[in-house]
Amino acid sequence: MAMHDDCIFCKIANHVIESDYIYEDNVVAAFRDMSPLAPTHVLVVPKDHYADLADGVPAETAAALLHAVDEVAKAEGITESGFRVVANAGGDAGQAVHHLHLHVLGGCRLTDDFA
Ligand code: 5GP
Ligand code: ZN
Repeated sequence: MAMHDDCIFCKIANHVIESDYIYEDNVVAAFRDMSPLAPTHVLVVPKDHYADLADGVPAETAAALLHAVDEVAKAEGITESGFRVVANAGGDAGQAVHHLHLHVLGGCRLTDDFA
Protein backbone atom coordinates (compact mmCIF):
# COMPACT_ATOMS: atom_id res chain seq x y z
CA MET A 1 0.00 0.00 0.00
CA ALA A 2 1.56 3.26 -1.10
CA MET A 3 1.62 6.79 0.17
CA HIS A 4 -1.51 8.94 -0.17
CA ASP A 5 -0.68 12.40 -1.50
CA ASP A 6 -3.29 14.18 0.60
CA CYS A 7 -2.51 12.43 3.90
CA ILE A 8 -0.63 14.43 6.55
CA PHE A 9 0.83 11.36 8.29
CA CYS A 10 2.03 9.88 4.97
CA LYS A 11 3.88 13.16 4.45
CA ILE A 12 5.40 13.23 7.94
CA ALA A 13 6.32 9.52 7.97
CA ASN A 14 8.08 9.88 4.60
CA HIS A 15 9.74 13.26 5.32
CA VAL A 16 7.74 15.23 2.77
CA ILE A 17 6.95 17.37 5.82
CA GLU A 18 9.52 17.27 8.65
CA SER A 19 8.51 16.71 12.26
CA ASP A 20 10.03 16.04 15.68
CA TYR A 21 11.06 12.40 15.23
CA ILE A 22 11.78 10.14 18.21
CA TYR A 23 12.38 6.87 16.34
CA GLU A 24 12.40 5.66 12.76
CA ASP A 25 13.16 2.54 10.75
CA ASN A 26 12.30 1.29 7.25
CA VAL A 27 8.68 0.52 8.14
CA VAL A 28 7.56 3.07 10.76
CA ALA A 29 8.21 6.56 12.11
CA ALA A 30 7.50 8.02 15.56
CA PHE A 31 7.13 11.75 16.13
CA ARG A 32 5.68 14.09 18.76
CA ASP A 33 1.97 14.90 18.68
CA MET A 34 1.46 18.59 17.84
CA SER A 35 -1.08 18.93 20.70
CA PRO A 36 0.42 16.84 23.51
CA LEU A 37 -1.86 15.53 26.24
CA ALA A 38 1.04 14.38 28.45
CA PRO A 39 4.79 15.09 28.86
CA THR A 40 5.38 12.24 26.41
CA HIS A 41 2.82 12.12 23.60
CA VAL A 42 4.31 10.43 20.57
CA LEU A 43 2.54 9.06 17.49
CA VAL A 44 3.84 5.84 15.93
CA VAL A 45 2.78 5.41 12.30
CA PRO A 46 3.58 3.08 9.40
CA LYS A 47 5.28 4.65 6.38
CA ASP A 48 2.72 2.95 4.13
CA HIS A 49 -0.86 4.16 4.34
CA TYR A 50 -3.45 2.17 6.30
CA ALA A 51 -6.60 3.90 7.49
CA ASP A 52 -6.69 2.17 10.87
CA LEU A 53 -6.07 -1.18 12.60
CA ALA A 54 -8.92 -2.74 10.58
CA ASP A 55 -7.35 -1.93 7.21
CA GLY A 56 -5.48 -5.17 6.56
CA VAL A 57 -2.25 -4.25 8.32
CA PRO A 58 0.44 -6.87 7.55
CA ALA A 59 1.87 -8.77 10.52
CA GLU A 60 5.36 -7.38 9.86
CA THR A 61 4.00 -3.83 10.01
CA ALA A 62 2.13 -4.54 13.24
CA ALA A 63 5.30 -5.98 14.75
CA ALA A 64 7.30 -2.93 13.63
CA LEU A 65 4.74 -0.61 15.24
CA LEU A 66 5.01 -2.44 18.57
CA HIS A 67 8.79 -2.51 18.38
CA ALA A 68 8.74 1.26 17.82
CA VAL A 69 6.54 1.74 20.91
CA ASP A 70 9.23 -0.01 22.97
CA GLU A 71 11.93 2.17 21.39
CA VAL A 72 9.94 5.34 22.08
CA ALA A 73 9.41 4.36 25.71
CA LYS A 74 13.15 3.77 26.12
CA ALA A 75 14.08 7.03 24.38
CA GLU A 76 11.64 8.98 26.55
CA GLY A 77 12.71 7.21 29.76
CA ILE A 78 9.20 6.00 30.61
CA THR A 79 9.70 2.25 30.40
CA GLU A 80 9.84 1.92 34.20
CA SER A 81 7.36 4.67 35.14
CA GLY A 82 4.74 3.35 32.71
CA PHE A 83 2.89 4.47 29.64
CA ARG A 84 -0.33 3.98 27.68
CA VAL A 85 -0.86 3.07 24.02
CA VAL A 86 -4.09 4.14 22.29
CA ALA A 87 -5.25 3.52 18.72
CA ASN A 88 -8.49 5.23 17.70
CA ALA A 89 -10.37 3.58 14.82
CA GLY A 90 -13.44 5.09 13.22
CA GLY A 91 -16.19 7.46 14.22
CA ASP A 92 -17.12 6.23 17.68
CA ALA A 93 -13.46 6.49 18.70
CA GLY A 94 -13.25 10.02 17.33
CA GLN A 95 -10.42 9.19 14.94
CA ALA A 96 -9.42 12.50 13.37
CA VAL A 97 -6.51 11.48 11.15
CA HIS A 98 -7.30 8.48 8.97
CA HIS A 99 -3.76 7.11 8.77
CA LEU A 100 -3.12 4.40 11.35
CA HIS A 101 -1.32 5.75 14.41
CA LEU A 102 -0.58 4.60 17.93
CA HIS A 103 -0.58 7.27 20.63
CA VAL A 104 2.17 6.65 23.21
CA LEU A 105 1.38 8.61 26.36
CA GLY A 106 3.44 8.88 29.52
CA GLY A 107 5.57 11.00 31.81
CA CYS A 108 2.76 11.71 34.27
CA ARG A 109 -0.02 9.87 36.07
CA LEU A 110 -2.55 9.03 33.35
CA THR A 111 -6.17 9.34 34.32
CA ASP A 112 -9.10 7.91 32.38
CA ASP A 113 -9.37 11.23 30.50
CA PHE A 114 -6.31 10.60 28.36
CA ALA A 115 -6.94 9.81 24.68
P1 5GP B 1 -6.78 10.76 16.49
O1 5GP B 1 -7.93 11.42 17.14
O2 5GP B 1 -6.95 10.64 15.00
O3 5GP B 1 -6.43 9.45 17.16
O4 5GP B 1 -5.53 11.68 16.80
C1 5GP B 1 -4.89 12.46 15.87
C2 5GP B 1 -3.73 13.12 16.58
O5 5GP B 1 -2.87 13.66 15.60
C3 5GP B 1 -4.13 14.26 17.50
O6 5GP B 1 -3.62 14.00 18.81
C4 5GP B 1 -3.48 15.50 16.87
O7 5GP B 1 -3.01 16.41 17.83
C5 5GP B 1 -2.37 14.89 16.04
N1 5GP B 1 -2.04 15.62 14.82
C6 5GP B 1 -2.90 16.02 13.85
N2 5GP B 1 -2.25 16.63 12.84
C7 5GP B 1 -0.93 16.61 13.18
C8 5GP B 1 0.25 17.10 12.54
O8 5GP B 1 0.22 17.68 11.45
N3 5GP B 1 1.44 16.91 13.20
C9 5GP B 1 1.51 16.27 14.41
N4 5GP B 1 2.73 16.14 14.96
N5 5GP B 1 0.41 15.80 15.04
C10 5GP B 1 -0.79 15.96 14.43
ZN1 ZN C 1 -1.41 8.20 5.05
